[in-house]
Amino acid sequence: MLVSAKDMLQKAKAGKYAVGQFNINNLEWTKAVLLTAQELNSPVILGVSEGAGKYMTGYKTIVGMVNGMIEELNITVPVALHLDHGSFEGCMKCIEAGFSSIMFDGSHYPIAENIEKTRELVKIVGEKGMSLEAEVGSIGGEEDGVVGKGECADPNECKLIADLGVTMLAAGIGNIHGKYPENWEGLSFETLDAIQQLTGDMPLVLHGGTGIPADMIQKAISLGVAKINVNTECQLAFADATRKYIEAGKDLEGKGFDPRKLLAPGYEAIKATVKEKMELFGSVGKAE
Ligand SMILES: [Zn+2]
Repeated sequence: MLVSAKDMLQKAKAGKYAVGQFNINNLEWTKAVLLTAQELNSPVILGVSEGAGKYMTGYKTIVGMVNGMIEELNITVPVALHLDHGSFEGCMKCIEAGFSSIMFDGSHYPIAENIEKTRELVKIVGEKGMSLEAEVGSIGGEEDGVVGKGECADPNECKLIADLGVTMLAAGIGNIHGKYPENWEGLSFETLDAIQQLTGDMPLVLHGGTGIPADMIQKAISLGVAKINVNTECQLAFADATRKYIEAGKDLEGKGFDPRKLLAPGYEAIKATVKEKMELFGSVGKAE
């Protein structure tokens, strides 16, 4: 059964570790993430962007697939199914479809409008027992066509949004989506520290987890980050393993063209990436 991300993130914040959000794109992705979480006894959040939602033919399909896998694979660790960077309309659709968690990304609105829309969603998800992530300060890089620069959020604005009663808060601290450029200046721990000072025990969310050095991840966790989003890194691992299989001509040997064989190295590469991240984030063995 899907659960809200609230309990797992409050435990993570108190226990000084982070739960990974791994974005899913298809059946192989979902199976790889769920089985790795179960093997490592770790709580997990499956992220779905609006673009990935469309790709998988709609939110109802995803809810059906994930619920089916949880039952058929005997997944007993806590699993949240979460909309990533949702619009207000996307949030409403996911609430209706049976997601257990949503992110409303109102960071591109003026703060007053972000507050107004977030407040409305706090009320709705509260009644449903779901979790809600809000965002302050846009996160750099490209996310479904929206390009941001990697700016730092205003800690006072973070406090305003946190006080609305959201479950977890994403704030820009110099992080960006996708691959980090050579001249990236790193995370702003000063900003993160200031945000945590004002928001207390609110679990903070770090987007753009791909390519942030391990020591920076650990420092971010020590300063209140309890959820880390990983997307690009699984895509790169999948693509790399698939290319190697084809370049080695394995699809031309015997029944190597069978999708269950062709996609197997990519699937294993996603599993290895998820394992590495769960170990780095400290969530291994934390499922209850
Ligand atoms: Zn993001």
